[in-house]
Amino acid sequence: MDTRLGIEDVKASLARMTGDEKHDESSTSTLDALWVLYDRVLRVDPADPTDPDRDRFILSKGHGPAAFYAVLAAKGFFPERELDGFLTWGSVLGSHPDRLQVPGVEASTGSLGHGLPLAVGVALALRAKGQHDRRVVVLCGDAELNEGSNWEAILVAPHLHLDALTLLVIDNHSSSIEMGPWEARLGAFGWDVAVVGGHDRAALAEALSRRPGGPNAVVADIPEGEW
Ligand SMILES: [Mg+2]
Repeated sequence: MDTRLGIEDVKASLARMTGDEKHDESSTSTLDALWVLYDRVLRVDPADPTDPDRDRFILSKGHGPAAFYAVLAAKGFFPERELDGFLTWGSVLGSHPDRLQVPGVEASTGSLGHGLPLAVGVALALRAKGQHDRRVVVLCGDAELNEGSNWEAILVAPHLHLDALTLLVIDNHSSSIEMGPWEARLGAFGWDVAVVGGHDRAALAEALSRRPGGPNAVVADIPEGEW
């Protein structure tokens, strides 16, 4: 991985993308967590993004991919100049990430509530292939977890002992339904839960690196009104 760059470089890259469909709040609130994932946690090779022996990341809340694109560009999955074409005609960087167009994107997402069930399937597939060291991380929004499909996945993942699976929730308090307390709710289903500051990169790195022996949930708390 390219260790020359830092979070400030990625913030500058994010600023290159503009437009009414950028979903600034949704994408910016994910930036620190995404950077930590790609800088310190996920084992993925920008030079070989389809290497079968890689970790998988799924951006389930695909309507806010700008920070994801900025991190992928910073890590060398595609040239940073591509960011300038974000949302323009002919650009591969659309308002939802396209796995067939953008190197490093594992799943085309945007229909909320699909990413976590998909990640359960990917974790099962990795197990079936004997890739026990590989991991699957899926990023969901707090309001996205209103979708019932997520709760089927949350129910079944501990039952299947999916220790490769990490659910990363960016909780920017956008849900009109109270989703917390996360430790009690997800914990009751059998998940190991850590709630950390959404901009605390050291805490995010520690929590996202855990392999607690079952499914791991990391809730990145973004105080209401902040991005
Ligand atoms: Mg939210």
